[in-house]
Amino acid sequence: MQKVEVIEFVKNGRVFELKPKDFAGRRMTIDEVEMIFGAFAAFWQYKGELNPQKPHALLKSGLHSNGFINCRAVLDYPHLCMILANEMKKAIEEKYPRESLQQIGGIASSAYSALDLGFCLAYLFSQDFNKKIKHIIVEKDTDGNPTMVRGGLDLNMKVLVINELMTTKAGSTWETKKAIMECNGNDPGPDIFSRSFVLMHRSKDFELADGSEVVPVFYFDIENYEPNDCPYCRAGSEAIKPKIDNNWNILHGKA
Ligand SMILES: [Zn+2]
Repeated sequence: MQKVEVIEFVKNGRVFELKPKDFAGRRMTIDEVEMIFGAFAAFWQYKGELNPQKPHALLKSGLHSNGFINCRAVLDYPHLCMILANEMKKAIEEKYPRESLQQIGGIASSAYSALDLGFCLAYLFSQDFNKKIKHIIVEKDTDGNPTMVRGGLDLNMKVLVINELMTTKAGSTWETKKAIMECNGNDPGPDIFSRSFVLMHRSKDFELADGSEVVPVFYFDIENYEPNDCPYCRAGSEAIKPKIDNNWNILHGKA
């Protein structure tokens, strides 16, 4: 399917009619993924020049931002999660030859937002290579950070680390990788593919805390700012919470 057709489909409320094969022979474009996320009120980005009339986003973390992405709103639907996992698979295949990927024994993703994506990706690779590939769930600890792999892992299982979203190099993508490195306690951990893959990359960092490469499937030029050091505030733009009251429409210039 051509890009214009995909965009028409989504515009007409037919997003659930899309199939992974509609993107065969090409990669889904940024415009398309923005449209799909937009259909779930899961994507917003400040467009154009700084403008005091146009507000920016106040995130849950308290930081201000010129963008907002809520992966869970989309990935909770297996149908769309499978389409996006298929796009992630293509990005992985562009970075590793097939012989290397045949060594995948497990795909690790963390609770909760990246779990379905990891499951779908493990399924797709398993089906492609006709071999057993485990989905490794990295669970949250009592502080809410993904650090735990129950029961440890077989040393012979080579692991690929993925995440649904990355904002900083020391965030959940790194914590997921670190959890795999440390999953066997004082004993060595399994081999890990050097590159990690992120579906929605909204970071200035293209490496993790250990200096290893991060490959975005979709990259967005979105930045977060401390409230007292925010160029949007300085320009007179108001910071508003995206998902309360009528703010979503206001951010989109529809209110
Ligand atoms: Zn601000």
